Amino acid sequence: MLEYATVGASPWCRMKNLLLAFFAAMASAPLLAAPKHADALIRHATLVDVERARLVRDQAVVTAGDRIVAVGNDADVARDWTATRIIEAKDRYLIPGLWDMHVHFGGAPELVAENQALLPLYVAHGITTVRDASGDIPLEVLNWRRAIILGSLFGPNLFSSGPKIEGLKPIWKGTIEAGSEADVDKAIDQLKSLHVDFVKITDSTLKPELFLYAVREARAAGLRASGHIPMALTVRQAADAGISSIEHLDYAFNAGVKDEAAIAADFGAGRITRETARDRLDAGFDERTAMRAYRYLAGKGVFVTPTLNGSRILAYLDEDTHQHDDYLAYIGPGLRKTYEWRIQRAAQASAAQVEQRHAHYHRVAAVIPMLQRAGVTIMAGTDAGYLNSFIYPGIGLHDELALYVEKGLTPAQALSSAIRAGPRWFGLLDKYGSIAPGKAADLVLLNGNPLDDIRATRAIEIVVLRGTVHDRPALDRMLAETRAKVAAWNQ
Ligand SMILES: [Zn+2]
Repeated sequence: MLEYATVGASPWCRMKNLLLAFFAAMASAPLLAAPKHADALIRHATLVDVERARLVRDQAVVTAGDRIVAVGNDADVARDWTATRIIEAKDRYLIPGLWDMHVHFGGAPELVAENQALLPLYVAHGITTVRDASGDIPLEVLNWRRAIILGSLFGPNLFSSGPKIEGLKPIWKGTIEAGSEADVDKAIDQLKSLHVDFVKITDSTLKPELFLYAVREARAAGLRASGHIPMALTVRQAADAGISSIEHLDYAFNAGVKDEAAIAADFGAGRITRETARDRLDAGFDERTAMRAYRYLAGKGVFVTPTLNGSRILAYLDEDTHQHDDYLAYIGPGLRKTYEWRIQRAAQASAAQVEQRHAHYHRVAAVIPMLQRAGVTIMAGTDAGYLNSFIYPGIGLHDELALYVEKGLTPAQALSSAIRAGPRWFGLLDKYGSIAPGKAADLVLLNGNPLDDIRATRAIEIVVLRGTVHDRPALDRMLAETRAKVAAWNQ
């Protein structure tokens, strides 16, 4: 009878035992574990921690699907991970994707294709998320939101208000008209069934008391409300009703006017014209009043979207007509036509009015650092889209951020307005706004340090959107495609 040991000593069995021992050792020794595989591995990057305004050097970031799965010291992460795409980011700066919190799409139903061609411009400029603040093709935009999520349309993450709430026969098209509380109730029900991301309310004809009612009801329905504040109301009334963001800096400026309540009451009672109300507001700003009002807004959690670049462009059309801007090559002829309205209006101004416009712009812009000091979250938004002349989708946000710094914010504060304010407004900081495991893989790799110089946000090497890496040649192709479409439409 052969001994068991003799059989076990055959060459095959020795090898089998060795293999078993090897696998057992592998299993108990994590240092020998095979690296895990992911989609992208960005190596040796300097991370910009926007929240703490500091840099973290020599980091690696791993993405899988549309998520970040690992972040840490380069050597540690590179030992544990490998990826289909490895990106060398030495001497480069990685920021979370930028958000433009105030854009528009529209102009006319036949301009849908021209509007859609704007979407890649945002991505090509590092903007991974936009908030559509309503236009006249709202249902189309809601369809895009869905198509982008499904992957059948290329564009940034898209939040939309859907159709805005207005009064009866407003100057704006594509709105839900409300002349009574019952109309507002119906409007909110309709917006809820459209699953809008927030509610936009404007006041070209909406009665002031219905404005406040709409804000309150939107909040009661679990929606955030944003908008323009009617001249007959004070900013505080809108804040008390529960408005979540004030669009355009002029309205925040009005909160700093000593006689704001009296002016609102006079206008509401028909004792003064809109022009007179504007003149009195313009002359009545007081810094102490403003700081008190802004601290109140901060306490209420009201954010402000300045759209400062748009104000600057309009105020200075006398000095710069923008007729030869390179970026006009990205704007379709139908959209360019919608620019005319404001250009012609501005052209009618007298020399004194032009002077007054310049002064007004600087007076209003000066409240930016006051808002910041009072603790109000400033939310970067451009107003890019139709009607708003020469505010270009994409690059417009970089111009906006540069103006914030020119007016007194630090580059870190300006960055935060475009990276953290949007997610904070939507209650989505757990998913966006920083570079950490579990967060969205929406990233922008820059060639310069944006904490030193805000203009570095323009020097984009790579954009990662929902986990897909778009390198510089891919971004240039996006730009070229939109230019080619516009050139064809120009024929
Ligand atoms: Zn707007």
